[in-house]
Order: sequence, then C-alpha cells, then structure tokens
Amino acid sequence: MSLFSVVATPIGNLEDITIRSLRVLAAADVVLCEDTRMTKKLLDRHDIRVQTLSYHAHSRLSRVDDVVALLKEGKNVALVSDAGTPGISDPGSQLVRRIREEMKKEIEEGVLKIEAIPGPSALTAALSIAGVPCADFVFLGFLPHKKGRETLFKEIKSSERSVVFYESPHRILKTLESLVTHLEGETKQVVICRELTKIFEEVVSGSAQEVKTYFETHPDKVRGEFVVIVSV
Ligand code: SAM
Repeated sequence: MSLFSVVATPIGNLEDITIRSLRVLAAADVVLCEDTRMTKKLLDRHDIRVQTLSYHAHSRLSRVDDVVALLKEGKNVALVSDAGTPGISDPGSQLVRRIREEMKKEIEEGVLKIEAIPGPSALTAALSIAGVPCADFVFLGFLPHKKGRETLFKEIKSSERSVVFYESPHRILKTLESLVTHLEGETKQVVICRELTKIFEEVVSGSAQEVKTYFETHPDKVRGEFVVIVSV
C-alpha cells in the first residue's frame, strides 16, 4: 500500500511539529513542498534526510502525473506547505483533489491511503487566543483584491458569526480602512493576530478604528503575517 500523507508543519516556531509528522516525513520516499528551501530548514532542524520536490499552485499538469506515478509504484509521498496545514489557503487542496479523482479505484481497493497528519494552522492558532465567540465561525481565506471584495465586507458586517481571514502586511492598512468604513455604528470588535508563534507574536483588539489607529501609529508593526478576526 502507498501513502499520501498531508502533513501540517509549523507556522513560525520550528518546535511546533508533532512526533508523528517527523516520523512520517522521515519515512517518506518523497516530500512535496511549496518551496523546497523553506521545508529544508525544517527538515535540517530535525536531521531528516529525504528527497524533496516542489509543488505549488502553478505546477504543471505533469507534476500531478509524476505524483500519481510515484504512488502507483508504491512510494510513500508526503505533502507539506510553507507553513501550517496544506490546503488551508494554499495549493495543497488542488493536488489532493486530483489524486482523489485519478486514483479513486486504488483508494477504494485499499492500495492507496490519503492520510491527514494534523498540526498547526494560523487559523486555529489565532482563534485559540483571540478570545472571541468561535463555537462556529466563517473563514474567508484571503479576501479578493477587487471583484467581490465589497460584497464580502457587507457580509462581514451582517454576519452572525465571527469572521476570520488572512491578510498580508502590504494590504493590512487598506483592509482596516475598509473595516472602519463598513463597520461604522456597529459594536463588532476586530482582533489582529500577528506573527503567531514567533518572537514578535502580538494580538491587537478593539473597534476597527482603534486597531487601525494602532497600526498607523506603530508602522514598525505593519510587517509579518496577519490573521484578522471580526468578532460577532
Ligand atoms: N496553510 C496555512 C495555515 O494552515 O495557516 C496558511 C497559508 S496562507 C498561504 C499564509 C497566510 O497565513 C499568511 O499570509 C497569514 O495571513 C497566515 N499566517 C501564516 N502564518 C502565520 C503566523 N505565524 N501568524 C499570523 N498569520 C499567519
């Protein structure tokens, strides 16, 4: 039987990797990476020597065929992304879908198993420390830059659940500006979780205006990685 293991990796702190993830990566014949240099840092840190191949959103069709061929040969393949859980706002889910389509028979016959090796995700890490209602929530991934953006802000305003999305340092101020506009007169709180698990990890919360003012007056903090939560 061959294994296609979807392995979560750290979102910053290289110690955030499970014992099972390390064992699976070390036992894999090939590790598919979004960026092989990034994954090599993690593998080196844990003394894991394994063949790596790049797989990203723009990988050609032939790369999927290569992966299918490896699995058909009985090889164990692991998939990682640059950070967190593959498939959550990164290219992993397309590959998993293709393998499920192209190897349906092998999966049904028990010749191939697609297994989850769970671990960190910026989404769950942020929600775990934000202190907002999150028995249920809406996750938007990255907001579109143009088409559909305004509609989403209207949905955020009227949502009866906390809404979570990812944002880049280049766009965080623009996004906060839009939240100020759309949430005017609302009691909703905005929580920004920045640089989770890293040295400068920070959680900033308040009204959209308060959070925007904070980042405008602390330009040194408009860098790194951001999760934005708009609480109910
Ligand atoms: N698959 C990843 C996961 O499970 O979290 C997410 C990949 S997505 C391409 C990258 C985005 O996740 C970043 O732009 C940022 O919004 C968020 N992110 C990743 N690491 C983070 C961190 N340490 N702190 C805050 N946000 C982070």
